[in-house]
Amino acid sequence: MLKELTSVIDKLGDVLADLQRQENLATLHHAQQASHEQNNGIWQKLFVGQPRSTPPSPSASDLTRLLADFEHLLGRLRHQQGQLHRLQQFNGQKLQQVAQALQQSPFTPARARALLAELARLDGGAHQGLLWQLLDCYQESLRLCLEQEQRSRAHQHELCSRLQQLIDELHFSGDVGAELAKIQSQLLQQRDGLALPPLCLRLIELTIEGCRQERQNSTLFLARLNTNLGEMHHNFAISLSEGQALFDARTHHGHHIAGELRAIGEHLVSQDNEQLKEEIELRLRSITHVLVQHERLQEREQSLLNRMNAMELQIQELKQETEDFKQRLSVQSEKLFIDSLTQIYNRAAMEERLEVEYRRWLRYQEPLCIALLDIDYFKDINDRYGHLAGDKALRLIARTIQKSLRDSDFVARFGGEEFVLLLPNVNPDKLNTPLEKLREQIRNIPFRFKDERVTITASIGATLFRTGDSTTSALERADQALYRAKHAGRDQTVMA
Ligand code: GH3
Ligand code: MG
Ligand code: MG
Repeated sequence: MLKELTSVIDKLGDVLADLQRQENLATLHHAQQASHEQNNGIWQKLFVGQPRSTPPSPSASDLTRLLADFEHLLGRLRHQQGQLHRLQQFNGQKLQQVAQALQQSPFTPARARALLAELARLDGGAHQGLLWQLLDCYQESLRLCLEQEQRSRAHQHELCSRLQQLIDELHFSGDVGAELAKIQSQLLQQRDGLALPPLCLRLIELTIEGCRQERQNSTLFLARLNTNLGEMHHNFAISLSEGQALFDARTHHGHHIAGELRAIGEHLVSQDNEQLKEEIELRLRSITHVLVQHERLQEREQSLLNRMNAMELQIQELKQETEDFKQRLSVQSEKLFIDSLTQIYNRAAMEERLEVEYRRWLRYQEPLCIALLDIDYFKDINDRYGHLAGDKALRLIARTIQKSLRDSDFVARFGGEEFVLLLPNVNPDKLNTPLEKLREQIRNIPFRFKDERVTITASIGATLFRTGDSTTSALERADQALYRAKHAGRDQTVMA
């Protein structure tokens, strides 16, 4: 359009030049006829297709007025042409920007990419033809984007409901149960997709915490059960041995009475008093009957003792089983606090120990140091020598740290390539010494990857607990110190 306008303006410019020449001729009083014919030619240029006979030639003053109007109009046209040109350039730039944004969008349809490539080849003004097509693509891209948004919302909704169901199945009590219920209600009102990952993370942490507590409770329960079983076994064994002794004594007495009676019987048989004999024989028969009854009772007692013996064996086995189970549980509980890669304590163990040391510090106010140690440029080790080499380095570094500490000190893998150290009862004036020694020891580990001698360094940020500190504030201060150590060039210790 701008091109067309430019060509019209150019034509009008030519006409104006002709008219000015004509006006000059008129003021010089040139022949009316010649002027008339020329004017006709000009009008012919302007109004193509008009009958040759029209219009009548204007007078010289008319021509001057007409010329002035014409010049004024042409000036305005040129001004508008300039504005149009600037607008077109501005539109072109805007279009390029939009095109760039569209190119980076993952929702841009393939058709748009071809258009964008074409647009990049065109100069500022020639994009007009592509504009509408591009707008269509933009609309299409927006539709795809909205569809994706709707899909991800539906997906998120599904994820939230599934998580809620899973929480229902957890059945944890106490603090963990209460926080899980809170997360459940948060999931119910979940609008923001970005809030979901941290909630999931917290959910996993709480599940681990819940399992740990359940395990501790089971261990306690088993310990109590084991103690009760032990006591029961002990009492049972005493009752059993007493019962057995009683049984033996009664058997012995029974034998004794029977022997005595036999002797009395034999003695009486040798006597002459028939009436007395008959009477005593009668009594003896009755006593013999009593003895038979006694023997039957003894047999029942014996079988009771046998059953009790079998039960005692069962209790003993049960006690042994609970003992084994208790040991297995305590090994597993220990494992929950051990980092599987480095075999030193993990973050959960650190949190428990930090609480203990913190409470001790509050009570006794003996200096307590917390330090964070982070391996320098560890990503490069993985990138250059592989993840397995990185794992090996982490194991070696963990062992080195552990060896360099005192028995009362504590080290845990805080995560990734970061370790946390708790040094109770340190000398505040010489705190730097053990940390610097440790840093040197790490620096001197003779790593060898792919036949290459590699030096790995670490940065340390440390602080002492101060009045008013919480575990979090001290940890944050150590983290800031570590940050400063990194920024100051790494391979150094910074105290805060
Ligand atoms: P900086 O000096 O700033 O600490 O640099 P960096 O490369 O050590 O730190 P960054 O946080 O960029 O990278 C940490 C790397 O540690 C990235 C990750 O792959 C690696 N890493 C974390 N955990 C493990 C692990 O268990 N095994 C291995 N091999 N690498 C790990
Ligand atoms: Mg690092
Ligand atoms: Mg790190």
